Amino acid sequence: MSTSQVLLLGDPRLYEKCTPVVGRDWLDVPNMIARLDMVLNAFKTQYGAFRGIAAPQLGIMKRMIYMNIDHPVVIINPELSKLSEEMFELWDDCMCFPNLLVRVKRHYSCTLRFQNEHQEIKTWQVEGGLSELIQHEYDHLEGILAIQRAIAPTAFMWRP
Ligand SMILES: [Zn+2]
Repeated sequence: MSTSQVLLLGDPRLYEKCTPVVGRDWLDVPNMIARLDMVLNAFKTQYGAFRGIAAPQLGIMKRMIYMNIDHPVVIINPELSKLSEEMFELWDDCMCFPNLLVRVKRHYSCTLRFQNEHQEIKTWQVEGGLSELIQHEYDHLEGILAIQRAIAPTAFMWRP
């Protein structure tokens, strides 16, 4: 099963910081995209949820995110800026602990600068659902999991 390729909560690699995609790493990008796409689709089929995946969730310790938001998006070497003071709360989930929901706070809007799979530089201003998704995936590149963002020690819920 493709879903079993995802590292699960407790794997120490999930707490490591990823390194940028540079030089010969770019040669591996098409292969990484194919793996990320396969696993994301498998989760969508099994859970009917999940919009994005970060490379370290597959043990690929590179600064790369793959999302499917109506269309596929490849985000490489992202930088986050202009995080709004305004925050909002939501129940977050993660493929590394797929049945656990955690209540977190995220910035309502932010700016994302990144390279796409063709090494072109893009800048996005995002808000709401896309903003929180990007903050979640960006955290993975920094070795931070959503459970570390829980608003309280009791802010967890099991998804039956
Ligand atoms: Zn996650």
